[in-house]
Amino acid sequence: MDISKEELDKIVQKAQDAFLISKKFSIQKRVSFMRAVADEIEALGPELIQTAQQESNLPEARLTGEKGRTIFQWRSYADAVERGDSLDASIDTANAERTPPKPDLRKTSVPLGPVVVFGASNFPFAFSTAGGDTASAIGAGCPVIVKAHEGHPVTSGIMADAISRAAEKSGMPEGTFAHVYSSTYETGQQLVSHPLVKAVGFTGSYLGGKALVDLANQREEPIPVYAEMGSVNPLFLLPGKLSSVPQELAKQYAGSLTLGVGQFCTNPGLVVGIAGEELNQFIEALKEEIVKIAPGVMLNKKIATGYAESREKVIGQSGVEVLAVSETEAKEGQGVPTVATVAGVELLANPALLHEVFGPFALIVQCKDASEMLAVTEKLEGQLTVSLFATNEDVASQEEIVSLLQTKCGRILFNNYPTGVEVSKSMHHGGPFPSASNSAFTSVGADSIKRFVRPLSFQNWPDEFLPEELQNANPLNIWRTVNNEKTKEAIS
Ligand code: NAP
Repeated sequence: MDISKEELDKIVQKAQDAFLISKKFSIQKRVSFMRAVADEIEALGPELIQTAQQESNLPEARLTGEKGRTIFQWRSYADAVERGDSLDASIDTANAERTPPKPDLRKTSVPLGPVVVFGASNFPFAFSTAGGDTASAIGAGCPVIVKAHEGHPVTSGIMADAISRAAEKSGMPEGTFAHVYSSTYETGQQLVSHPLVKAVGFTGSYLGGKALVDLANQREEPIPVYAEMGSVNPLFLLPGKLSSVPQELAKQYAGSLTLGVGQFCTNPGLVVGIAGEELNQFIEALKEEIVKIAPGVMLNKKIATGYAESREKVIGQSGVEVLAVSETEAKEGQGVPTVATVAGVELLANPALLHEVFGPFALIVQCKDASEMLAVTEKLEGQLTVSLFATNEDVASQEEIVSLLQTKCGRILFNNYPTGVEVSKSMHHGGPFPSASNSAFTSVGADSIKRFVRPLSFQNWPDEFLPEELQNANPLNIWRTVNNEKTKEAIS
């Protein structure tokens, strides 16, 4: 299955050739290609779900839902491209009367060039070969080379064929999409180092993402690696809310923690509360729930072993006490739901406890008071999400904690659990490092396309040679900022 350096060079060169051809295509052609990909995926028969089930151990209903999400990603990103959202076109017309005379300036966004995509194991459709990174890079106008995830190579191949068929039917040049297999990291690393590759999309572990970011920075021409990595996604339980419904919160939390055997990047693995009667009630109710939840089969052996090892490591730390473990014995490859606790002071002395345990594991941090809770907040690394469970009075009285939490994450939820990640314009799936390598960008929602473009200003250009989105007549009928006002009007 491995590929030689020469073959890899040919694939990247073809992607570059395709880039030079397709950058002259109309936006509409790209949009049609994206919609054709959605249609091809939609038309895939039961083989897709069955294969993904065999390769990932994920249940049929979950995979069926994920397939729908993936199709929606392609269609909604195509709509956004058609609307010109990621072009961010702006025009400042000339003023010859001004001293010095003001030039005519028109700015749009152009694709970066060939993009390499690494998918994650836990979403074989939505965050893998035909997932959001590929859809957004194609939406930007970039050719894509996918490094197939070793956890689901056959699924990856089925999706790659669907994209290739759509490319051919839509008249896209050869090299617009490529798919490579490799049993070692070397191929992926060669792709990231290749001089013709201009950006990387990555979803996966911190170790993988950071290694690729470092590699890209060592190139003669460093390139952006948009890596979405792990996160513990803390839940903050503020006293007013906790005292009103502790049992209800515990029940809901147990569901969110163990959903999909805890294998979500937004899995809430850390709970921070203030020690006392209310937190005890929450803990007692949570213990009752956790013992009843049976272990589930994890994505693959590597993930299951990784979970078992990180779980052992955390519960072996000083001051950590196990509160509840599923009463059903785990079989090989299964992840056992587990809840442990630690005092705030112990956590502050041992920040390694804040690292992600990928699976159904929760650590409950019991702070002695609000000022210790603030100290724990300060210690947090960058997170994809933070969930605040609070009353309005809690928010007003803990303003400092609430304000600090907003500096720590990409999405802050109010009395809500973070596991669902809506695909929409206002979603931000990313966050300060180490949850993501670049906190300015999202990997979910059509704004993810912006990762793979760069601005280009045209000064004093003849109208007929401008890209359509900048021409006076506004032939694409898109929203543009003209002399600081949003408008669809033509320029006379
Ligand atoms: P992973 O082990 O990091 O693998 C992701 C991809 O990167 C795979 O194709 C892998 O190659 C490749 N890779 C990893 N390390 C590499 C290196 N040093 N050099 C070159 N290539 C490398 O992640 P995973 O097992 O799929 O997913 C589990 C983790 O992903 C969890 O920690 C989870 O939190 C995180 N995750 C994050 C998000 C998010 O949106 N932030 C979403 C899902 C999952 P192989 O195929 O050869 O292994």
